[in-house]
Amino acid sequence: MNTDLIIIGSGPGGYRAAALAASRGLSVTIIEEGEAGGTCLNRGCIPTKTLCRNAEIIDTLKHSEEFGLADLSYTLDFQKIVERKNYVVSQLRSGVEMLLSQPNITLVRGHATFTDTHEVSVDGQDFTASNIIIATGSRPSMPPIEGVDLPGVITSDELLELSEPPKKLCIIGAGVIGMEFASAYNSFGTEITVIEFLKEALPILDSDVARRLRQSLSRKGVTFFMQSAVTKISHSEINGETLTVTFQRKGREESIEADKVLVATGRSPRTEGLNLEGVGIDFSRKGIATDDNFMSNIPGVYAIGDVNGKCMLAHAATFQGFHVIDHITGKEPSICHEIMPSAIFTNPEAASVGKSEDACKELGMKYLCRKGSFRANGKALAMGETDGMIKLLTTEEGQIIGCHAFGPHASSIVQEVTAMMNANQTINNLADIIHIHPTIEESLHELSL
Ligand code: FAD
Repeated sequence: MNTDLIIIGSGPGGYRAAALAASRGLSVTIIEEGEAGGTCLNRGCIPTKTLCRNAEIIDTLKHSEEFGLADLSYTLDFQKIVERKNYVVSQLRSGVEMLLSQPNITLVRGHATFTDTHEVSVDGQDFTASNIIIATGSRPSMPPIEGVDLPGVITSDELLELSEPPKKLCIIGAGVIGMEFASAYNSFGTEITVIEFLKEALPILDSDVARRLRQSLSRKGVTFFMQSAVTKISHSEINGETLTVTFQRKGREESIEADKVLVATGRSPRTEGLNLEGVGIDFSRKGIATDDNFMSNIPGVYAIGDVNGKCMLAHAATFQGFHVIDHITGKEPSICHEIMPSAIFTNPEAASVGKSEDACKELGMKYLCRKGSFRANGKALAMGETDGMIKLLTTEEGQIIGCHAFGPHASSIVQEVTAMMNANQTINNLADIIHIHPTIEESLHELSL
């Protein structure tokens, strides 16, 4: 079967690229071996954000007296929480399936393997196209720690499938996934311990923002062991059913007990089973090598999203896909992939775009950093959520080069700065933008005055 475009994988990279290509008149075959929507919809962004919303409601209830609601109590029905998560996921999945049933798109179920540079086989059926996009995503990577294969040692995939929250959860890794689960499960009443090798959590964030976020979770009862290396996971000697996590901290061996251990030490591009080596597509354990148009070493074969290892975010996958469709259909791509906003949906949340102060220092760049807090912001006070800060970075001439925020609406603040950075705007342009009152976003405007 021959089509204009084959896409392998229906995550946010694959399915959005398929829809755009079809709208431009290309015939598209999209191949999916699992559920439509990929990691993002089924085991990533969407189920976790659904849980985060439950956690947020619980956190608000815990402060109900502050809002004049005395003696409120609640019972956690985790089964309902899981059902709601599954409902949201299934609703969105049907939407993606509907999108992939529109004219010009054929969804093929099964595992795709390259049989030639422009030919892919699925269960013995061959598909050819002059353009192929590999959008196979990533999978959790397991560190070489003794005991990492014991029952009870799980990844985010399995944690999302639990029908009861664990009593004690040890999280290895204080990255985005580890911190989001720490925040949500702490609200569900789980005793959380996070063990992290590095000095600070969330190395992708500005270190001031990362510290504020970690301290905020500590105040809520999450225990952090930083600069600590897990050396072993074993069955507990106290109680055979639980696990003992042993780690080295400041030259000493320490251990903690947990019912479950979440390994959140990163993800690896999913390149296996595609026969990339067989057809000569360059790749390494970091992902499929691509140029600025996300094209591999084979002309007409592209790799987008987690599988190229450039940036493991759903919107990065989507916009890389849009870029490829522009490239294939002869439209000059105009998306700036260097300006990549991201958010961490803990409660409170954090978000960032562009250069951090740490990066500017490391690069020896001249920059100006304006800092603000939410303490005197009317909306934050009205919401009872004043724990927040913004750092806005500019060049000495005033060009906006980065923003890092912690607190309610951090992602919206960063999204506004992302729009400005895309338009090469300066701090003076920010000063001229009318902001709605009262909003937390006004804190950003304050920084321009
Ligand atoms: P995927 O979404 O992984 O989709 C790849 C698809 O390819 C899968 O459906 C897979 O079954 C299919 N596939 C693989 N190999 C084959 C084959 N050989 N044949 C046929 N099909 C194949 N990102 C954010 O931006 N925001 C968030 O809030 C966020 N939260 C996350 C929370 C968690 C717990 C996790 C794990 C991830 C989160 N992410 C988040 C990251 C986000 O999910 C990924 O960056 C995104 O899904 C990558 O999209 P993709 O299209 O590259 O691949």
